[in-house]
Amino acid sequence: MPDGTRPSRARRASPRSAAGAAGWIDPFSRREIKRLVAEFGSPLLIVDCERVRRQYHLLRRALPRVDLHYALKPMPHPAVINTIVELGGWLDLATTGEVELVARLGIDPARCIHTHPIKRDVDIRSALARGVRVFVADNPDEVQKFQAYGDQAELLLRVSFRSPGAVCDLSRKFGCDPEDLLSLARLAKRLGVPVRGLSFHVGSQAKDPGKHVEAIEACATLIAEARREKLGVFDTLDIGGGFPIDYGERAPTIQRFCAPIRAALAALPRRIRVIAEPGRFIVGPAAIGVASVMGRAKREGHWWYYLDDGLYGSYSGQLFDHARYPVEALVADEERLPSVLAGPTCDSIDVIAENLMLPQLQAGDLIVGRAMGAYTWASASEFNFFPKATVVSVNSVPGDTGTVMAIER
Ligand SMILES: *Cc1c(COP(=O)(O)O)cnc(C)c1O
Repeated sequence: MPDGTRPSRARRASPRSAAGAAGWIDPFSRREIKRLVAEFGSPLLIVDCERVRRQYHLLRRALPRVDLHYALKPMPHPAVINTIVELGGWLDLATTGEVELVARLGIDPARCIHTHPIKRDVDIRSALARGVRVFVADNPDEVQKFQAYGDQAELLLRVSFRSPGAVCDLSRKFGCDPEDLLSLARLAKRLGVPVRGLSFHVGSQAKDPGKHVEAIEACATLIAEARREKLGVFDTLDIGGGFPIDYGERAPTIQRFCAPIRAALAALPRRIRVIAEPGRFIVGPAAIGVASVMGRAKREGHWWYYLDDGLYGSYSGQLFDHARYPVEALVADEERLPSVLAGPTCDSIDVIAENLMLPQLQAGDLIVGRAMGAYTWASASEFNFFPKATVVSVNSVPGDTGTVMAIER
């Protein structure tokens, strides 16, 4: 099983471990998957809060002294958000909907930063009204928007470091050129908008830590120049997300991935508070998708299995996030035949995997997709009126064997 998906009962460091291992279940075991489907139906997305905790602790150990702001975007589910906050973690919000969600959960806004570089005035006002203080800007127009709020808001200026190697290069759409950073900081100062520091996001599912290191070093230079010019406090560096997980291919362990990042951060002046915005790493390995075979047909000699979840649902990440989820059938191993897994909609692109070796399946058999916590359910639609998977969270507290929470926006 990939590194990120092992249960963590024995090694957990949170105070809850005192509650006793008996209160925790492994919802990714065959038996629990079947029980959850019997109880909550299909398709399901099973989120294991214990694995969320484990991922959080792994990243904490890999990046000591870095405050982790979980980015809600990949999986904005209350069970995940609450789990992070209970561990002492922080949050990264990007939209008014996300601000309203954490407000409904009663979370201290001081634990949240708002990192969308482009906002409407109403988004800024509603976040401020909820008590969020730190925002991101990356261009003069956006800095200008904060002139009216200079006494309530502080900025992180987002710098762009292109990352053609990342699966999703987030520095093309957002971030200012490093050469333009100082003039942006001067504008903020002129308008009376306090600048707290810099941020970047090198892109999601980074192949190697090289871009993080390059960006940290470049930001250190920019911060030193900005302080020399007295352009603001510049005591914060936000190193974004991008930390990779195992899909079909193995990613480096997070300890190894972060080693050069730790070294680069160690060279920063001590007064700089470093924060990060992990999304995928926290939640990706913490959920599986469970779909059922609705029907099957033999076409040109191969079995086609039509599932109740597909590319318009939880597997939407195969399109939007360029991910490939490892899938397996939850039936006793027997002879395997080349098979096709298709989604339920009438669209011909709605095919999850072809040339997959699977045992012969029948209607009602279960298909499990691994590492499906990030950018899956979040980008699912209800095209053709096939409902999105029900999200069941497990292990939010000891004895939580499955909870479905309504998520209204
Ligand atoms: C999407 C996003 C993240 C999360 O990135 P991951 O690669 O999933 O860790 C963090 N910060 C910002 C600003 C984002 O847009």
